[in-house]
Amino acid sequence: MAKVLCVLYDDPIDGYPTTYARDDIPAIDHYPGGQSTPSPAALDFIPGRLLGSVSGALGLRRFLEDAGHELVVTSDKDGPDSVFERELPDAEVVISQPFWPAYLTADRFAKASRLKLAVTAGIGSDHVDLDAAVARDVTVAEVTYSNSISVAEHVVMMILSLVRDYLPAHRVAADGGWNIADCVARSYDLEGMHVGTVAAGRIGLAVLRRLAPFDVRLHYTDRHRLPRATEEELGLTFHPTAADLATACDVVTINAPLHPQTEGLFDEKLIASMKRGAYLVNTARARIVDRDAVDRALRAGHLAGYAGDVWFPQPAPADHPWRTMPHQGMTPHISGSSLSAQARYAAGTREILESYFAGTPIRDEYLIVDGGALAGAGAHSYSTTTTT
Ligand code: NDP
Repeated sequence: MAKVLCVLYDDPIDGYPTTYARDDIPAIDHYPGGQSTPSPAALDFIPGRLLGSVSGALGLRRFLEDAGHELVVTSDKDGPDSVFERELPDAEVVISQPFWPAYLTADRFAKASRLKLAVTAGIGSDHVDLDAAVARDVTVAEVTYSNSISVAEHVVMMILSLVRDYLPAHRVAADGGWNIADCVARSYDLEGMHVGTVAAGRIGLAVLRRLAPFDVRLHYTDRHRLPRATEEELGLTFHPTAADLATACDVVTINAPLHPQTEGLFDEKLIASMKRGAYLVNTARARIVDRDAVDRALRAGHLAGYAGDVWFPQPAPADHPWRTMPHQGMTPHISGSSLSAQARYAAGTREILESYFAGTPIRDEYLIVDGGALAGAGAHSYSTTTTT
């Protein structure tokens, strides 16, 4: 019987919810392009409930314990005295979410002598040292597509919020004020602007599709070009590099995984090459951009706005400059953890575990590392050499 070690974010400060804002969530059985949503043999939770926090336990407790496995759920993930590090040596399976990542570094792999499977409940396995996983023949899997549309919706929201300067105007209203000039002095229409995505995978393409009706000019860069029919349908301009795209756009959104090719991509020089007054939205991974260069560009008025939900490390320290820099719409890492997304990635995590314990293949699209090499979605979108 296996020990499953699951790291989740803390419950709400006021305790695990007993009521919800809505009674249900829409049933979705496939993603754009046809991939089916997770299909485990059964579910032990009600979709729409809070599953990503410790008491939610991703809805896995009954399934695992009825099968005789041990499930340890904790939010205590950092440092040598953490529950995570204490429980790691005899864990066979580790589950973690990018929102509250249990960093599986090479040092931790060295301590995890029984580890066979690392599951990302969500998308983005850069918190796992993929080189170490390859070397140790540990399978890494994530729930591909589970929250891609959730993030795409968030990106569109953040682009509109920045360009229209929504958050400061809301603050004026909430604080009892009514100075219209204050509210509109940085407020523009998105219509007609050049908007580009770095990467046009599941999230990037969904952002492009959602923005097309706003009558903007759409741009993208990616390692693989989209089909010509898609480029024509959306009127896309392809750029061979992110640097080329960045100089052409009023709004840039980053939707690439963090791996050696993208780490530090938006450095001081690339940001300086962007148009004065450009907006940058990054819900992909914090280390794709230079933290201090973003702060300086906002303060200098070179960037008009920055928004996103990804930080390094996570949780971000209280004095992280992105908490206080001007003209920003940062949130904690939430875009892929709506209650709708949680239902899908919890079901997908269960599907992966069912396959693993039954000794049947894990869906190829969920695999990042398998059999001592990048595999499935990982072989397509990642490169090894660690970024953890
Ligand atoms: P996909 O795998 O569908 O798309 C990733 C795209 O990035 C692929 O098209 C890939 O290209 C492209 N890419 C990889 N490297 C580069 C590069 N060097 N330059 C340009 N493009 C590149 O993943 P998703 O769209 O679903 O997710 C993307 C990322 O978003 C995740 O890896 C994760 O980091 C982040 N994410 C954030 C969430 C949040 O809550 N904030 C939630 C979910 C994801 P190709 O495959 O053509 O080689």
